Amino acid sequence: MKVVAGTVLFFLGFGQISWGQTKGSTNVAGTGDSEMAPAVQTNSYVVFGATAQQEALVRSQIQTMQPTVLPLRVVFVPHWKYVDNTRVFRLHVPTGYTSALFTHLPSRTIFIDADRYFDETLGYWLAHELGHLVTNSANEQDAENAAREFRKRLEGSRKTQR
Ligand SMILES: [Zn+2]
Repeated sequence: MKVVAGTVLFFLGFGQISWGQTKGSTNVAGTGDSEMAPAVQTNSYVVFGATAQQEALVRSQIQTMQPTVLPLRVVFVPHWKYVDNTRVFRLHVPTGYTSALFTHLPSRTIFIDADRYFDETLGYWLAHELGHLVTNSANEQDAENAAREFRKRLEGSRKTQR
C-alpha cells in the first residue's frame, strides 16, 4: 500500500505534499470515527486544485453528509491528468457512473475531474465516493448503500434552505 500511495503522488505531481502530517491515519483507513472528534472533522482534510468556490461547496456538502470517515484529501485534477491516472492505476471507473470522481482507498483520497465539475450533481456523486470511504470497500453496491443516507442528508438540508 505504501508503494501504491507513493505512485499516486508521483503521477499526480503532488510530491511536495507531506503525507506525514496526518498522524499516521493513512494506514488506519476504515477503522471508524473513534480517532476523530466531531468538532475538528470538517476541517481535518485538505482540498487541492480547487477554486475557492469549489472548495467551499465540497466542504459544505461533506459537512452536511457527516460521514463517519472523512477523506484525508480531495484533489481536483485537470481532465487530461485525470484520464491518465485512471488508466495508469487501472481504476474501475464505470461509464456514466462516478466517472468524474474516484476514490483511492489506501490513501483516502477523492479525485475529482476539475474539467467535468458540476454544481448540482456533485453532492450526489460525492456521496458515492464517501460511501466507499466509510465502508472501506471498493464494491459499488456497498458504496451506493452508504451513499443513500448521505443523499438524504443533502436533500434534507436543501429543503430547509429553500
Ligand atoms: Zn464507486
